[in-house]
Amino acid sequence: MLFLSFEAMEVKQAEKQNRNPWIMRVLGMGKTYFVKTPWWLRKIYPSYIWRIKTDKKILYLSFDDGPHPQATPFILDELKKYHAKATFFCVGKNVVTYPDIYKRILQEGHRVGNHTYDHLNGWQTQNEIYLQNVAKAAKHIESNLFRPCYGKITSYQAKNLNSAIKKQSKVIMWDVLSGDFDMTIKSERVLKNVTTRSGSGSIIVFHDNEKTFATIQYVLPKVLDHFSQKGYLFEKL
Ligand SMILES: [Zn+2]
Repeated sequence: MLFLSFEAMEVKQAEKQNRNPWIMRVLGMGKTYFVKTPWWLRKIYPSYIWRIKTDKKILYLSFDDGPHPQATPFILDELKKYHAKATFFCVGKNVVTYPDIYKRILQEGHRVGNHTYDHLNGWQTQNEIYLQNVAKAAKHIESNLFRPCYGKITSYQAKNLNSAIKKQSKVIMWDVLSGDFDMTIKSERVLKNVTTRSGSGSIIVFHDNEKTFATIQYVLPKVLDHFSQKGYLFEKL
């Protein structure tokens, strides 16, 4: 409820000032999400990584849910044009289905992270089942980086990640959520979410999945072009 009134206020303000709001509601679904992660959310979860501290013009693009047979190769081709590196948070079962695309991600110098085996929501899954699913994904994804699906993970699950992936894990959240998954907004708005909210050290979330492919085809080349012209480099985490 707090979020809803928050969102209404921010959207009104933003409209007045002719800018994009930093908090969005997925229409009809009653769900709210932050385009820009607010400082207090980072404070509540200080052990998670929300952005990288740097004065340099560096952006950290990340792509969740792949590999996908069309979206991932498209993204890799675009990144290559700009000598950009990125981080792909892969779903274990998709790595098993598309092993060659997974290999291509690594061969082209990008980084991968674990995004569970079956894309589970941590808040709706029993801890043991969740951790087993992460461990199953870890058999196919060699990484100490983990991104919880929907950003939802319980503190118990987070504390026990290390034993699930058998590594000193890092939970990677984000600074800017592109909103590419939000089918109620236009691609132009997704682009603006990214161009107006990102800065040095921002970790930006996109997706390489079926649902977002059309949006990504429009948005990603423009994001790469926009920030390259401003002197930014794109690096992996
Ligand atoms: Zn996901």
